[in-house]
Amino acid sequence: MVVDHEVVIVGAGFGGIGAAIEFRRLGIEDFVILEREDDLGGTWHVNHYPGLAVDIASATYSYSFEPNPRWSRLFAPGPELKRYAADVAEKYDLKRRMEFGTVVERAVWDDEAAAWTVSTADGAQRTCRYLVTATGFLSQPHTPDFDGLDTFAGTIAHTADWDDDLDLSGRRVAIIGTGATAVQLIPEAARKAVHLTVFQRTPIWVVPKVDFPIPRGVQSLFARFPLTQRAVRLVNTSMLELLMVVGVLHFRQARLGNRVAALLAKAHLRAQVPDAGLRRALTPDYDFGCKRPTFSNTYFRSFTRPNVTLETGGIGHLEPDAIITGDGRRIEIDTLVLATGFDLWDTNFPAFEIIGRDGVDLGRWWRDTRFQAYQGITMPRFPNLLSLNSPYSYSGLSYFTTIEGQMRHMARLFGELRRRGAQTFEVTEAANAEFLDEVTDHLQSSVFYRGDCASARSYYFNHQGEAALLRPNSTLTTLRQMERFPLEDYSFR
Ligand code: NAP
Repeated sequence: MVVDHEVVIVGAGFGGIGAAIEFRRLGIEDFVILEREDDLGGTWHVNHYPGLAVDIASATYSYSFEPNPRWSRLFAPGPELKRYAADVAEKYDLKRRMEFGTVVERAVWDDEAAAWTVSTADGAQRTCRYLVTATGFLSQPHTPDFDGLDTFAGTIAHTADWDDDLDLSGRRVAIIGTGATAVQLIPEAARKAVHLTVFQRTPIWVVPKVDFPIPRGVQSLFARFPLTQRAVRLVNTSMLELLMVVGVLHFRQARLGNRVAALLAKAHLRAQVPDAGLRRALTPDYDFGCKRPTFSNTYFRSFTRPNVTLETGGIGHLEPDAIITGDGRRIEIDTLVLATGFDLWDTNFPAFEIIGRDGVDLGRWWRDTRFQAYQGITMPRFPNLLSLNSPYSYSGLSYFTTIEGQMRHMARLFGELRRRGAQTFEVTEAANAEFLDEVTDHLQSSVFYRGDCASARSYYFNHQGEAALLRPNSTLTTLRQMERFPLEDYSFR
């Protein structure tokens, strides 16, 4: 069968861009990138709330093969990430292959034709040999169903749908949520609002952020001698790796490492908040690492300002001009900010309907059995599908580890397809089952199963109580496995 495109990639964020670069390296030029938003950049296009910045140092949070010597700070502000995505897409001539405002609704595998049919919201269909989903993990904003939310007469803003004209100066603001987004937004809002009330349901572990502007001279040094920036990347990545591997993944063997991280966060809190009661309210009662660790030098301090109140009494309901707390107090506000995160397990696994061989529905299969994906990228009965945002795919703390590991996996897989003159790949049931056993086994040592995560409400866990998001391997192991997996783990046709 003649297909419309050799490859359809869904999503023009860093994952989709990485996959497209890999296809170009493999000499596969016939691909299209479908993107529901009106521009590229994924999360860095969608999110533009005040205070947005990367929370993994930029030398590490970028493609290793596309270093950017011009980051203005150690932790670059959000707009620089968006610009970086655009620059990389430009360099690899990807933008003309992107179709914006195109919402994919369904993909169905036709085994006889060995092709996917991809349906979009505009009613169009197109066929392709290979389908890549790069739809992100945190891409469907979550708005809780608060009683009376629709009666609120003031301004409502979700952080993932921020109106750049919204100026918080002089406003009485409530922010709901204390996740990584709120940790960045709260200090900005506290500086502007007449009064800010922060509704915290679960406190978050916050460690200091060693951040500073990168002087022009150093930027020039990075540009002239890229090895110097590589060295910075190596040091930073190694530190993050230590935090992840020792603090989170090997909790059983290295509980002390986890305790040290928690102590650091507590010392940070003590240094910024003199009031013992406030400190108690801001201190998590679950282990460090159950949720994604957060970095900030200004978050805790914001709560000591006279115009900021921490509210832990819960939300009862909303009225046109107020939030009524769980214990009946009335807090008058004119602006409600929902820093309430994203729907992950409900809506993103997968982000649209995917029907594989024998009519198997991917979403249903994951829910009826267990969330699983071989090496976090392929599933049996879903031939020629690369699902970049799969269970156990997220490796390390920087998303670029995941992306580059998956690019290596693609290189090996498509190299083998070419060598055999084959057209179709499918991971075997046995290889998939073995990988699932392996990650399940490794996770038994992690903080997720050995620590106390009961009260964390962490999105790392799915509804079945499994921490099925993170791949429990070091970065080096992930990269090695991704480029050396046994070829007999796949069947080729
Ligand atoms: P999040 O971590 O899921 O936090 C959502 C917050 O909203 C939590 O505090 C949650 O409380 C609260 N919430 C949700 N529903 C609620 C309800 N019904 N009532 C009261 N509170 C409610 O989302 P996020 O802060 O947007 O961060 C998501 C992820 O994005 C981060 O973990 C990080 O990976 C990424 N991120 C990265 C950066 C960066 O710089 N690279 C910046 C921001 C975000 P509970 O904890 O009690 O559920």
